[in-house]
Amino acid sequence: MAEGARAQQEWVPTGQGREQLPPWLAPELDRLLTLYDQGRLHHALLLTGRTGLGKRLLAGVLARALLCLATEGQPQRPCGTCRGCQLTAGGGHPDLRTLGPSSARERGEIVVDSVRGLVEFLHLSAQRGGSRVAVIVPCDRLNRAAANSLLKTLEEPPAGVFLILATGRPGRLPPTVRSRCTVHRLAPPPWAMARQWLVEQGTGTDDPARADKALALAGGMPLSAWQVLQEQGLEGYEALLQQLHRLSAGGDPVKEAETWERTPELLADAVAAILADLLRQGHGAPDRGLLPGTLAQQLVRSASLDALHHAFLRLGEHRRGLDQPLNGRLAAEAIFLDLAAALRPARQSAARQA
Ligand SMILES: [Zn+2]
Repeated sequence: MAEGARAQQEWVPTGQGREQLPPWLAPELDRLLTLYDQGRLHHALLLTGRTGLGKRLLAGVLARALLCLATEGQPQRPCGTCRGCQLTAGGGHPDLRTLGPSSARERGEIVVDSVRGLVEFLHLSAQRGGSRVAVIVPCDRLNRAAANSLLKTLEEPPAGVFLILATGRPGRLPPTVRSRCTVHRLAPPPWAMARQWLVEQGTGTDDPARADKALALAGGMPLSAWQVLQEQGLEGYEALLQQLHRLSAGGDPVKEAETWERTPELLADAVAAILADLLRQGHGAPDRGLLPGTLAQQLVRSASLDALHHAFLRLGEHRRGLDQPLNGRLAAEAIFLDLAAALRPARQSAARQA
């Protein structure tokens, strides 16, 4: 396993056709297929959006839909039954290649040799007479040489070739690659849709209150919420509540940050959800019930709303910082230092005056 890449359990769709797509991705696929049918789908597509939305899944299903032999304009691509779909489902379609960081030897990078192989493949004529499709996920792992060797093909691909790239960190992508792609940004689904989907997955997620908390911990991203429930349940969330309690009582933010240094994105999402709920309560608006009543009251009492709001806004900066290859520990510490300042404003100003 490459450094920095957690062993993650991924949600695996059931089914071979488009029924495998979660409800928030189906309209995205339709939009892209409509462009394709009109001959307006750009040959190099960059899917972006937060981790846990299903970019990888959409990239894969779009590739299968482009290679599906069902009649153009038919809404049910990929159909799951034609010869093209059978080949893609079996992982053996001769006109589809998927590229990602593969071995520990490559240190989690997509290396130049892999891209050269891909470019060679894309310049062969399609074996089944249709499109040739390449999927590169997560494309921010292309190292510099690999990215450079892809530029010419990105700019002037052979006829019938489509490249589908996806990343949650487009800031890590060389501008030369980004500028040659059409960006298609996925937005998070409405909360109710994400919760409904999560509940329907069963196996420990069928309690709406539990689904709500997992969604909050995952910043509203349904696939991440599913993963949270599979991997650690709600322990991380419960632990974070304890940490907030300790911080408001004068706990050491740097020490509290230690447990999150490997998952700073998860921390940022969970803190954002909790701060948003505290702000709702502070302003007398209906909250999502993410904090036990007594803890919420205690935190709202001890903090100033301005300070909570400030900490909330700063999370956006910390999250943008995570686009860069940065020490996760530093990001976690920065988040906890802001939290400590927000939850203990009186103590902070006393210290400043001293
Ligand atoms: Zn098909």
